[in-house]
Amino acid sequence: MEDLQQYCAIREGKLALPYQYFAGRVGSKFIISLRDKKKILGVKCKKCNKIYVPPRQTCERDFELLTNDWVELADTGVVTNFTVVRKPDRHHPRPAPFVLGLIKLDGADTPMAHIIDADPDKVAVGMKVKARFAKETTNTMLDIECFQPV
Ligand SMILES: [Zn+2]
Repeated sequence: MEDLQQYCAIREGKLALPYQYFAGRVGSKFIISLRDKKKILGVKCKKCNKIYVPPRQTCERDFELLTNDWVELADTGVVTNFTVVRKPDRHHPRPAPFVLGLIKLDGADTPMAHIIDADPDKVAVGMKVKARFAKETTNTMLDIECFQPV
C-alpha cells in the first residue's frame, strides 16, 4: 500500500446502495396479511401437523410442500428464549438496550424472533406476550411493532 500511495491518489469511501428484494410467495403472503389485516399467518404440514410461524415453503421433517395450507395464529404466545441487545447499532430496529426474543405463538410449533417490549431485568422464558401492531406499516415483519407482556 505504501508503494501504491507514492504514485496513486487513493480515496477510501462507502457507497449506500438502495435496493429491493422479493420476499418470496410465502414471505409476501405473510407480510401482506400483517400489513392489511393485522393477522399472523402460518402454514400447517398435512403429513406431520407441525405449524410453522413464520411460514415456510416446505416441511423440514418430511419435505411436504406447505404453500397451500395456511392457518391463522393467535397474536399471543410464550417467550421461549431471549437475549438483551446492549450494543447500539444504527441498523437495529430500536435503540439499545432492548430485548430480542423467540416467541412461540399459541398454536404454533416453531418460535419466531421479534422484539419484546419488556424490562431486560424482568423478561423471562415462559413469559406470556401479545403482539402489538405498528400504527403505520413498514411492509416488513416490523408491522408487528413488538411483543409486550400480558
Ligand atoms: Zn411435516
